[in-house]
This record gives sequence, structure tokens and C-alpha cells, in this order.
Amino acid sequence: MFSYRHGFHAGNHADVLKHMVLIAVLKHLTAKPTALTVVDTHAGAGLYRLDDDFAGTSGESLDGIVKLLASPLAADPPGLVGEYLDMVRRFNPSGKTRIYPGSPFVTQALLRKEARDKLWLFELHPTDSKALATHVEQLEAGRQVGMKREDGFEGLRALLPPPSRRGLVLIDPSYEIKNDYARVAACIQESLKKFATGTYMVWYPVIPRPEAHELPRRLKTLSNQAGRPWLHAVLNIGQSPERVAVPGETAPRPGLTASGVFLVNPPHTLKAELQQVLPALLEVLGRGRGQMQVVETGG
Ligand code: SAM
Repeated sequence: MFSYRHGFHAGNHADVLKHMVLIAVLKHLTAKPTALTVVDTHAGAGLYRLDDDFAGTSGESLDGIVKLLASPLAADPPGLVGEYLDMVRRFNPSGKTRIYPGSPFVTQALLRKEARDKLWLFELHPTDSKALATHVEQLEAGRQVGMKREDGFEGLRALLPPPSRRGLVLIDPSYEIKNDYARVAACIQESLKKFATGTYMVWYPVIPRPEAHELPRRLKTLSNQAGRPWLHAVLNIGQSPERVAVPGETAPRPGLTASGVFLVNPPHTLKAELQQVLPALLEVLGRGRGQMQVVETGG
């Protein structure tokens, strides 16, 4: 455990999908005046430099936010893409994209002081939790943001249901441990019993592993059993031609080509918003073989 550092992946295509959806959900939930509680069970370091050793090692943002910002779409971005790009630009006032905001900072930027919205952050990694604490301190957000170096699945238990009965739970593990897939499903099942009307957002990697394949199916079943609506979106940017295996040669590691988000009790507007932007996003981020996008709902 703890070999995963989100800094290597910050701003990649999976972050683009996740943070774009997160913004859409938060905008919807903060449209009502009642206080909102957000729990980010796997928060990461909070802020990432796109020009440091981490980001430079993998260059994953080159297939994500960097590519998107350099594309013609960035000049006149549709709906959610525009809101996502505005968010990233907010952290880069000089105009050069050096900083990438992770989920805690994307969320905090949209919370309201006057409504007494609250954000709880959990991060277990010793180094990333220290970095997160430092970044959060700089926010001077006072009691709006609470941070714990604890297991997010465990910590969530004590926070549900939130006092105002309005809440969003973001579950975004690194899936370093195979057991994370089962823990996500168990967490959703248990949480829906305690707080059935909360919005839950799970991110997962689309990789050739039975647990990853099974997770969205399991989450659909759990949502249907609880009688709650759900939304599932996948963005697959495909494999670039130079990464396709040549017979007799060892292919280089393709990296992550696809990821998904699964939401229980999603905003009713989200399906249409995603259907509007995902094809355009894929046109920019798509690399070729296998690229596709999916938005499905149920419940
Ligand atoms: N949510 C972040 C974002 O979008 O910016 C990225 C999070 S990253 C994918 C997952 C993080 O979860 C890692 O920083 C990892 O150290 C942390 N982690 C792993 N297991 C955890 C657990 N059981 N509880 C809390 N944090 C955990």
C-alpha cells in the first residue's frame, strides 16, 4: 500500500471526467439554500504542480487538461467543459497552467460560507496527508474544512446522515488494493441505509480486472435494490497507434485508457449535460482504437 501518489496522474483524462462531473453535481446541490455537507473519502494532496517531478515523470496531463486547454474547444467550450476549464483557470491566474486542483480544492471553491456548507477530507498517505494539511491551511477556510488522516471508508460512517440531510460523498480510491472494489460496494450499501437521499459519486478505473468490471454492475444492483436513481458515465480515450503492440515486440505499457463515474441520486440534469459534452470532449482527448463514451441512467 501507499505506492500510489495522485501527483503522477493529476490532470489526466480520468481527472477531467471526474472533476467535470464533480463540478456539475456541486453546482446543482448548492443551488438550494440549505447547508450541504461534502465528504471526500480519498482526498489526495489537494493541489498538484503540473511542472514538477511527479507530473513530468508520466506526463499524463498531456493526454488530459493540457491537451484540452490547447484545443480549439477551449476557446468556446460547451456547458460543463467551460465550467471545468474556468475552475482550472481560477487556480492559474497568470494564464500558464502550472497548478492542477484536486477534488478537495474543486469542491471548496464551490462551497458557500453563508450557507454553512461543510467539507470533510480523509487522506491516509503520510506524505500526501501532510501536503493536504498545508494546502488546506493556506485556504484559511476555518471550520468549513475538516481534515483527518484516517481511513475514509471508516471515517464516513460517523458523518452520515449529515445534520442538514443534504450531502455529497465522493469515493475515489486508488484501487491499489484489490479489496477497494468490495469496500466501495459495501460502503455504498451501508451508506444508503443510513442516508438514502444523499448523492454518492464513485470513480473507478476501466481496466481488465474482474473486480473493476463488476463494480458498476454491483453499484447498479445496489441502487436498484434501494430504489434510488443512478447514472453511469464512461470515457475511453482509446490507445494511440504508437502504443499498439507490434507482433514479436513487447508493447510499452498503455497506461489507463478509460475510467468511469457512478452516481447514486445524481442531479436530474446531469445525463443531458454529459450527453452534450462527452462527444466533443472525446473528439479532443480521443487517441484512436477503442475510444468511446457512455452515459446511462436507471432506477
Ligand atoms: N480524490 C482526489 C482527487 O480527485 O483529486 C484523488 C484521490 S487518489 C485517486 C486516492 C487517494 O486515496 C490517494 O491519495 C491515497 O493515498 C488515498 N487513500 C488510499 N486508501 C485510503 C483510505 N482507505 N482512506 C483514505 N485515503 C486513502
